[in-house]
Amino acid sequence: MIKFCQLNKVNEKFNAQIKLACERVIDSGWYIQGVEKKAFETEFSHYCQCKYAVGVGNGYDALMLILKAWLTLGYLKEGDEVIVPTNSFIASALAITNSGLRPVFSDPDPQTFNLTAKVIESKISSKTRVIMPVHLYGQLAPMTEILLLAKKYNLLVLEDCAQAHGASFHGKKAGAFGDAAAFSFYPGKNLGALGDAGAVTTNNEKVAKQVRLLSNYGSEEKYKHNVIGVNSRLDEMQAAILRIKLTYLEDDILYKRKLAQRYLQKINNFLFELPQLTNNSSHVWHQFVIKTKYRKVLQCYLQSKVETLVHYPIPIHKQQAYADSNTYLPVSDMLAKEVLSLPITSHLDIKEQDEIIHLLNTFNI
Ligand SMILES: *Cc1c(COP(=O)(O)O)cnc(C)c1O
Repeated sequence: MIKFCQLNKVNEKFNAQIKLACERVIDSGWYIQGVEKKAFETEFSHYCQCKYAVGVGNGYDALMLILKAWLTLGYLKEGDEVIVPTNSFIASALAITNSGLRPVFSDPDPQTFNLTAKVIESKISSKTRVIMPVHLYGQLAPMTEILLLAKKYNLLVLEDCAQAHGASFHGKKAGAFGDAAAFSFYPGKNLGALGDAGAVTTNNEKVAKQVRLLSNYGSEEKYKHNVIGVNSRLDEMQAAILRIKLTYLEDDILYKRKLAQRYLQKINNFLFELPQLTNNSSHVWHQFVIKTKYRKVLQCYLQSKVETLVHYPIPIHKQQAYADSNTYLPVSDMLAKEVLSLPITSHLDIKEQDEIIHLLNTFNI
């Protein structure tokens, strides 16, 4: 049985270094707000080619803290609308709702799975203040067009980079396009911690400062609280682990690209539609997602041999939690029925991949 992803295998090659780093943190006697977080923030901001990075508790908090920072700085007010794709993980929408803002669910392009400028423009109302593109599965949303729209309508852009660490367009990295960006280091992401972790990147000093303040109980100076903050800090242990894994991220991305190229070249069954690459944008393949009208039969056929997953089986606007959203988004409804994610991890070897490809090519209905 070829597993979809085994995190112990993903982390095997870092094992010795991680243990040394943990020992270093344990021996330091300092576990929150210390040198490891600071160093990771510097290293990650350089990696993303952004001026500032702030380590926070997780990806959801990163999104929520950016919106809270914009609210408390007066860039937004309660009830403002945020345009967000409905074919994403629910965190993208929850950060909006829980900040007192209104998500406006939108359909993606059926080929790239990402929002398009055309769809976004059709959703803009007098209350729209933010566009939140999600770089789904590791491919950048069309940022040139999105930034032009944002300029035209005077909107803020929040990139959800939870699946796109290292993705780039004309040499510019995910997280450096919008007004701010949220990253998740959930263990299964392309850059994953060994627990919950996240980061905010931005080139805006005021926003970076406000996120830092909000994430630490609204406090800069101990027992002095300037704003209504929360507790959401990247801890020293996770920061130390992420510093190691960040140095291998480019190699991991290259390996995933090789796997993706092989899938793209070798899968030749007309019952499947393969993922499409957009021009000049470098995909980092958090997921390799095919489309098929025969998903159920295919999953049964692969069942005992290859584990596959569905990202995502229910679009956000169809979740019970958003039962009142009452929107008609046919592309997302179709994708929820047809998408299937194939294994594409750093521990998948070529032989295993060949077996998957063979099984797919011999699949019949
Ligand atoms: C994983 C993910 C998040 C949330 O990250 P957590 O660290 O789990 O809170 C947000 N958005 C997208 C698109 C994600 O894939």
